Amino acid sequence: MEETAAITVDDGERERPAESPEPPPRAAAEPPDVRLAGVRKAYGDVVAVAGVDLEIAAGEFFTLLGPSGSGKTTTLRMIAGFEEPDQGTIELAGRDMTGLPPYEREVNTVFQDYALFPHMTVGDNVEYGMRVSKVGRAERRTRASGALKMVRLGGFEERKPSMLSGGQRQRVALARAIVNRPRVLLLDEPLGALDLKLREQMQVELKGIQGEVGITFIYVTHDQDEALTMSDRVAVFNQGGIEQVGPPAEIYERPATRFVTGFVGVSNVLERDGTRFTVRPEKIRLLEATDDGQGLHTERGVIRDVAYAGMVTRYLVQLDGGGELQVVRQNLETSSSEALEQRGRQVTVGWRPEQTVAVLEDSANTRMEDPQ
Ligand code: ADP
Ligand code: MG
Repeated sequence: MEETAAITVDDGERERPAESPEPPPRAAAEPPDVRLAGVRKAYGDVVAVAGVDLEIAAGEFFTLLGPSGSGKTTTLRMIAGFEEPDQGTIELAGRDMTGLPPYEREVNTVFQDYALFPHMTVGDNVEYGMRVSKVGRAERRTRASGALKMVRLGGFEERKPSMLSGGQRQRVALARAIVNRPRVLLLDEPLGALDLKLREQMQVELKGIQGEVGITFIYVTHDQDEALTMSDRVAVFNQGGIEQVGPPAEIYERPATRFVTGFVGVSNVLERDGTRFTVRPEKIRLLEATDDGQGLHTERGVIRDVAYAGMVTRYLVQLDGGGELQVVRQNLETSSSEALEQRGRQVTVGWRPEQTVAVLEDSANTRMEDPQ
């Protein structure tokens, strides 16, 4: 049987670690909810999406993560049917979507600018699409209340959007998008307009709501913390293509390419004996004189910079063997003044050899050397 998680992205010899969770399949025999094969889209000379292959299982919370301009929105718009690919195919539940207009696809989209009608009540906003498609009044009411309950806004039907907080308004937009039970919900930076605290709160809420409604979510963000916190799997986009696909822990702990290493965390790339590898800052220990570093790979260096950040202190260590590493230490006992005195000190750093990960060339570079 075909593995629902199968992803045709060139990530070298990498294997999925044994402990990484499989995407939750609704029924193993079903085709993936969304399949992109060789999808490419250019606007004149600008290649927005440069050949993307993806399979997303039913019920997954799947995130497209990447910097601005990396092709995330274009990919989403092609799934929604607002744009057609120049090459490649998009399937929903095994059905080819080529040429089908947006309203004939079992897909809905939530944008950052979620534009509720200000003069309508919350209930009327959620009912709007059903009114357009001539669903009867009683049915509309029932379904709108159900959707509002799902986003924890039961009883808010008669309020006007102006009487709601930003997070509540975004949840009304979500209710409006899920009320007709799409197979797939596309969310393009839906929390981008909210301030940090509210955004973090909404991340948890959205993830909870997704689990309850069981709709496949394809979520776009440029925020790596958001992607790691919310997703079942993440696709890291770079220059219109995918660098790596995997569960959050795999993306963070075993970044495939230099780009992923630096975009999802601190890059910390070293070269030793002709091998290029990375080691995450929190895996590295600053060894005390009493610590013999047994079982660790150790290197000598000088602390070049120290940044006290409350929960942790960050050290920039220049290594005698070449290169620099960021080391993060949890502030169990240290105080800021102690930390700052460490600047210029000679230190030994150490990490367990299995914490290093070989770093491959970015697939974006490979693509450019070998254009289709
Ligand atoms: P992201 O959502 O990751 O920021 P986009 O998919 O919006 O990226 O854009 C990818 C690239 O395609 C960018 O270089 C962008 O300028 C270009 N692009 C997107 N839409 C259009 C368009 N309608 N016309 C011309 N160029 C576009
Ligand atoms: Mg975008």
